[in-house]
This record gives sequence, structure tokens and C-alpha cells, in this order.
Amino acid sequence: MPPRIYRLEAIVLKEMDYGEADRILTLLTPTGKVTALAKGIRRMTSRKAGQLGLFCRAELVLARGRNMDIVSQAQSLETYEGIRQDLFRFAYACYAAELMDRFVQEEEEDSAAFYDLMAKGLEWLANEADPRLWMRYFELRLLSLGGYQPQLYRCTVCEREILPEGNLFDAERGGIVCPRCAPVAPQARPVSLGAQKVLRYLLSRSPEEIRALTLKPETHNELEALLERYLEYILERDLRSAAVLKRLREEIRRAERRANRPAAEAV
Ligand SMILES: [Zn+2]
Repeated sequence: MPPRIYRLEAIVLKEMDYGEADRILTLLTPTGKVTALAKGIRRMTSRKAGQLGLFCRAELVLARGRNMDIVSQAQSLETYEGIRQDLFRFAYACYAAELMDRFVQEEEEDSAAFYDLMAKGLEWLANEADPRLWMRYFELRLLSLGGYQPQLYRCTVCEREILPEGNLFDAERGGIVCPRCAPVAPQARPVSLGAQKVLRYLLSRSPEEIRALTLKPETHNELEALLERYLEYILERDLRSAAVLKRLREEIRRAERRANRPAAEAV
């Protein structure tokens, strides 16, 4: 029999109001995903509320319940304040959490690498100067952990080395297609040399090196669209999540437009 009370570290990926004062939480832990009930968390006086907000990392004590485990104690470890103070960063955190929720299955037992990536991702979103760049880094790391690292050095059709020429990216094959193989991959889209270089850079460098990178806006837009198509293809079988991600991306764009607005016009 598993113990009735157990302790774990978790990140709150999602929350949903339940009843009058409770909340159902989707928790990412190093040993899988857990759905748990936080009783009374929405009451002003609840001690748990401050310790267990959305995207917080916390040390928890859970009690096994009949239908759902119940949070009996929570001690906050990290609240990622930078995310809470900025609509754009918050929209990105929602998107990152939704992606993570899709990639980690409920029955997954070893999710330590995913957990570490989520903790780092929230830290980057809270603190780094260019959250867009870090989000692309997060997506690529997540794809790699999920077994979908894009193939960038050899053509996904003929396996020949990729040269600096008019290459394409094929979401279905999960990587670059050389111009000679283009006829057999009609769904592939052109990818610029700049975007190919940045993809390789993001997949092979440390966070310190990523920090030194500045992207041209057009390269950035291209990468964003490429990864969006690739993720959409991978998650396609799950239509609900594709729709949720689309809505979250729209929210990111709205928050971005608002953030770019001159201060005088800001509401
Ligand atoms: Zn080829």
C-alpha cells in the first residue's frame, strides 16, 4: 500500500476553480504529473494561497484522497515574480505550461528533465531581457526531451549533409529537406540560412551563450512560425490542445502589441 501522506516538490502548471473556495491544480513534479485539490485556497485568509499560486514552485505535502489527492501543506520555493508583473511574460508562461502539460503524460514516472526545464523556463521568462528568444529555446529543449529534436545537419529524405543553399523545413519529417529532395516533400516550407543557424545554435549552446544572441526581427518571426507549425504537427492528433495553444499564441501577440504601444497611449 502506498503511504497515505506524501511529500513532493511541484510546479503549478494549471489551476481551475472548484466549488466555493477550492481549486483543482495540475502539478508537474519530477516523478510525473499530479492532479490535486487545494481546499479553501481561494479564501483571503488561506495560508496556502500565497504559497501555491499559478506557476509557483513549492514543496508540498499531499494526502491521498478517494478521487483526487489533497494538498495538506504548501511551502513556496519560488514565485517567479517577473512573470506576474508583465502581461506578455505571463501570456508566455501560460503557453509554456500548456505545452508542458501536453508533453508530459499523467502516467509518466520519470519527468525530472521536464521538471527542470519547466523551472528554468519560468526563471528565464521572469528574468531574461528577451522572453521571445527564451521561449524558442524552451520549445526546442522540450521537443528534444519529447523525442522530436529537429534534424538539422542531414537531409531528412536523402541523408546527405545539409549545405548552405535553398533548404526547406518539413514538419512532417521533423527537419531540413535539401533542394534536390524538395519534389518529394511538397509540404516543406523554405527556411532561411539565418533561421537554420539560429536553430543549430539554440540546440547546441548553453544558456550563457544564448544570452549573447540578438536576433533580427524577421529571423525571429520566421523561427516562431516554423516552431509553431512543427509543434502543431506533433500535437495535431490532440485537437483540443492545438486550439488551446492557438488561443494562447493570440494572447501573446495581443500582450506584445500592448507592450509595444507608446506610454502615452497605454491604458
Ligand atoms: Zn535530400
